[in-house]
Amino acid sequence: MRTHKIAVIPGDGIGTEVLAAGLEALEALASHTGSFKLVTEHFPWSSDYYLKHGHYIPEGGLAKLKTFDAIFFGAVGSQQVPDHVSLWGLRLPICQGFDQYANVRPARVLPGVKSPLVNGKEIDWVVIRENSEGEYAGMGGRSHRGLPIEVGTEVAVFTRTGVERIHRFAFELARKRPRKHLTLVTKSNAQRFGMVLWDEVFFEVAKDYPDVKTDRELVDAMTTRMVLKPASIDVMVATNLHADILSDLAAALSGSLGIAPTANLNPERTFPSMFEPIHGSAFDITGKGIANPTATFWTAAMMLEHLGEESAAKTLMAAIEKATASGVHTPDLGGKARTADVTQAVCDAIRATA
Ligand code: ATP
Ligand code: MG
Repeated sequence: MRTHKIAVIPGDGIGTEVLAAGLEALEALASHTGSFKLVTEHFPWSSDYYLKHGHYIPEGGLAKLKTFDAIFFGAVGSQQVPDHVSLWGLRLPICQGFDQYANVRPARVLPGVKSPLVNGKEIDWVVIRENSEGEYAGMGGRSHRGLPIEVGTEVAVFTRTGVERIHRFAFELARKRPRKHLTLVTKSNAQRFGMVLWDEVFFEVAKDYPDVKTDRELVDAMTTRMVLKPASIDVMVATNLHADILSDLAAALSGSLGIAPTANLNPERTFPSMFEPIHGSAFDITGKGIANPTATFWTAAMMLEHLGEESAAKTLMAAIEKATASGVHTPDLGGKARTADVTQAVCDAIRATA
């Protein structure tokens, strides 16, 4: 039996609620299958922690995290801290510090879930988001504060190395899917430097993957294609900002932000990868016990797959689908169930697995 060391960072708001649910399901899975063991350590890094200590991650925090096999993350964001401070205080230092450059976001309408699209059942996508540079490189500045000539710049940085590695990752992933189809999404008509580099490198890399069908779309047109022709899409690769937006759209079209999972991968495995639901801390529903934990369950399945526990990941995914199919739905999916009810349904389904 293999043991995996997991760092648990619940963070803020519903992040703490859904992560507790996720751990409950993982425990049920570990004890029912007997095929793996998780050793977890909790890190209290959150916005409350920041308000008390002046930082999200203490000195030596990243070095400590580096010793884990994976990071299971909730959400960060609080009404007491500006969003750019919390995001750059906790989530982005981990993604950048551990070179988690490939952000993988599958989207699919789970059984029993209603898509806002009539043909929503056709959605079976993976959004691949470049996660280390681009528009969120953190470069730019402010000057002449308060004056009419005040300037704020936000520099999007695209390196050949960064672009090539995300394209290669996307082709490798697309190659493993039945349809083997990859769509390049950029905005290279209006942005003529970094976006044109994205296009050029994509088609250079494509030569190494003759078995993968490719096409390209401008990001604005891609939003309409996702709504109008969902079956025409399999895997898409886009920049940090573009894919952030496209994956929220993909989540909404597959029923709710509350079901959408994410893996922040360091594909070379030099550093631990981080697994989190797409959604944020959602203060409007925090403490009410109605957050949908499905995104976190799905995220946990992605984490197990990454850890080499494919069979446990499949069991968990089947349990999630059994629960959604049975109609145990939280309010974001139009139901009346609570976080605890969905968790119970998933744990029961795990225990009912042969
Ligand atoms: P972030 O800036 O971290 O991306 P956000 O401002 O986009 O966060 P979220 O917290 O992701 O906002 O969610 C937006 C809204 O979607 C929430 O206010 C909440 O109503 C709903 N929502 C998000 N996640 C869930 C969930 N797991 N269950 C139910 N509703 C959710
Ligand atoms: Mg958001």
